[in-house]
Amino acid sequence: MSMENLQSLSIPFDLKSGLSSARTSTTRLLSQMRGMYHDTAAYDALLSEDPLVYEFYELGLPETSGNIAFGTSIVKPGKVGDEYFMTKGHFHTILDTGEVYYCLSGKGMMLMENPEGDWEVQELSPGVAVYVPGRYAHRSINTGSDEALVTFFAFRADAGHDYGTIETKGYRKLVVERDGKPEVVDNPKWTQQ
Ligand code: ZN
Repeated sequence: MSMENLQSLSIPFDLKSGLSSARTSTTRLLSQMRGMYHDTAAYDALLSEDPLVYEFYELGLPETSGNIAFGTSIVKPGKVGDEYFMTKGHFHTILDTGEVYYCLSGKGMMLMENPEGDWEVQELSPGVAVYVPGRYAHRSINTGSDEALVTFFAFRADAGHDYGTIETKGYRKLVVERDGKPEVVDNPKWTQQ
């Protein structure tokens, strides 16, 4: 039997919190997201607390084209200046592979953009599935004020993660709070070349 022949498996995820008692999550603290929020002064001010921004489960399935990687992503509520807590976001290394996210709880947005600069945003709320097409980088953003944004995701297990320009310049668009509501605005790092 090759490594690709997995046995079936069953893993509980809490429907509300997305947490699993069977696995350990990977955590992302604010200090691991340097340069990703546009308000660097607000970022530095919040570093003394170094809050947990998000966590997710990686199940360690063999990264083959026939397997489907899945898990939950949990983005905490909060903001850096006027910019909501969010995941780093990534392209897939095999660029043309899609992904599906199903929102379990909380409120937020999926921000997507392709290398050509086309972008899309979809709202996430409990019971809504969002399909991220191939070629689009994707980032979950918690626009709620006091609840985690919890999603279940699934994608081709060999797709890989490529942070590309995201870690240095971010997305072309930002989602910020304006008059108490989320708004998509241009990222100054992209417009001031
Ligand atoms: Zn992905």
